[in-house]
Formats: sequence, C-alpha cells, structure tokens
Amino acid sequence: MRFEIVTIFPDFFSSFFENGILRRALAEGLVEVGIHDLRTFTHDRHRTVDDRPFGGGEGMVLKSEPLAEALASLGVEQKYAAAPCQDSNLPPREDAGFVTGHDFSRAADDSEYTGALASARTTRVILLSAQGRRFTQSLARELASLDRVVLICGRYEGVDERINQLYCDMELSIGDYVLSGGELAAAVVIDAAMRLIPGVLGNQASGEFESFGVADAEIDSDVEGVPRSQHGSGGLLDYPHYTRPAEFSGIPVPEVLLNGDHLQIRRWRREQQLRKTLANRPDLLENAPLSKEDRKLLEAIQQENRQGS
Ligand code: SAM
Repeated sequence: MRFEIVTIFPDFFSSFFENGILRRALAEGLVEVGIHDLRTFTHDRHRTVDDRPFGGGEGMVLKSEPLAEALASLGVEQKYAAAPCQDSNLPPREDAGFVTGHDFSRAADDSEYTGALASARTTRVILLSAQGRRFTQSLARELASLDRVVLICGRYEGVDERINQLYCDMELSIGDYVLSGGELAAAVVIDAAMRLIPGVLGNQASGEFESFGVADAEIDSDVEGVPRSQHGSGGLLDYPHYTRPAEFSGIPVPEVLLNGDHLQIRRWRREQQLRKTLANRPDLLENAPLSKEDRKLLEAIQQENRQGS
C-alpha cells in the first residue's frame, strides 16, 4: 500500500518514518510513502502556495493551482467528467457526477461506511480538515485495504474549497480540535492504517484484540499455543495490561492474571473492557455486539456503580 502526502513541510515527516513499526514496514516494502513538497508545483520566484481569502477575513488559504498540479503529477484526475459550472458556487457533491458514484463525505455514521471505500477504485484522495468526518479505527481498516491513499495537508485557514470539490473523496478530521496543519493528522492516519496492513504487525492478532478491534465472529486468526487473550474487542476499549514486577509501589498485579487459568483470565479481561468502556466511552457500548454474558456483567457493573455513588 502506498501513501502520498502533499505538504508544504516535507521535513516534518523525516523522524516519523525512521522509527518503530513504520520504519520496518517501509524497509520490508509492505508500505510505501511519497512525500510531495507543494512548493515544487509553483512557478513564481517566491514559490507562493497561499493567498488571501476572498471576502476578507483572517489568515491565508492554500491556492488551488499548485495543489491541482501536485495531484495531476500523482495521476489524480478531477472528479467531474466536464467542468461543473463556470460560477463560483459549485454544485453539492451528490449532483456533481462523481466518477465513482460514492460520496464519502456524507455517510452519517461509521456503519454506513463499512465496505464503501474498498468497493470502489482503490486510490482515495483525502483532505485533512477539522471540518471532516471523524477518523475511526474502522475507517483505518478500510484505508488499509486500499492500494493508494493521497493525503492533502492544509495549513493556515485551510485549502481552497475547489480542491476539495474537484479532487477529494473525503474530508477527514482526527478529532474535534484545530491543529495548525494537516501534517500531524496525516501522520496519525498513516500510523493507524499501516499497522492494519497484513504483515506489518509482528503478530497479526494484536491488531484484532486491541481497542476498537473487531468482534470474535470476524476473527479467524488464533494465537498459537496460547488461548486468545480476550474476546475480539468488538469496538470496546482494551483491558488494562501489566508486566513484571508483580508488585509495584504497593500495588499488586490482579491475582487472576497470575493463576494460569485461561478461562478466568479471559473473563476478567472482558469485564475490565466493559468497565473501562463504561467509564471512559459509554457511547461505544451502544453499537457493540454484546453477548448475554457481557450484558449481565455490564448490568452488575452499573449496579455496583449506582451503589458506590
Ligand atoms: N479554518 C480551519 C477550520 O476552522 O476548520 C482550520 C484550519 S487549520 C489552522 C489548518 C489545517 O490544519 C487544516 O487545513 C487541516 O489540514 C489541518 N487540521 C486542523 N485541524 C485538523 C483536524 N482536527 N483533523 C485533521 N486536520 C486538521
């Protein structure tokens, strides 16, 4: 799989690609990355990539021409078969005659999204933007199934909207806060997606058994010789982890993890997942595929919480 990054700060990424799992994945050819300096696609003495916003107001906006040239150099075409209109009010995306027929910006929730990316052509162009749909693990999984993802990093007040309308499949936000540039967001997206590419993690199962992982039914791998560390998290948060020493600052590791009873360990871990998710991200419980046993456990935890408060 290949990521193309369009940025005005290409050096931002140097240390990011030189460490850990990503460095190994690049060395082994499981992931490729192209970094494209937007200034290369300018033609003036000052290598100008930005200009003042029409209508006035704060800041600068990344200009459309260098971005369009950068995308053309990557073989990315405009989505319109012909120019949509001469007027500056471009039609909404659903009317715009997308080549793919998909409108990725409009999916209301994550479940609507599943499979959509993978089913169409396998290069996707993503504009990193605080106004985008929220990046999630399931979207990371979909990106990991593509051949190529082009990431456009905005700066200043953002990117001329016509680039979004003409070239982008999706605007993507990594969270409800405003960063000063799309580079950090691109790094987050690449990190989350590349570790889900088969072969990138030493133990492929780790990607399935962690926070926001898939449900048991969707897992076909098994860890040789060791019973599964937990149920597939099925969209819940991970359970707490411990390593040696068995006691630290007066806090012992939970007894159950030392007794070697795999069934008990599995149950304990599932309960911890439910506890943590209820405490930190109760919203995730709404769509999680919970078993009868899970529901009983959850009920007991909620009861316990009510009594404690
Ligand atoms: N005027 C924009 C707004 O209010 O939504 C903010 C622009 S921000 C200062 C500059 C660039 O940072 C954006 O164009 C985008 O590429 C990136 N960025 C900022 N917040 C982001 C987020 N939460 N997720 C992804 N990219 C973000």
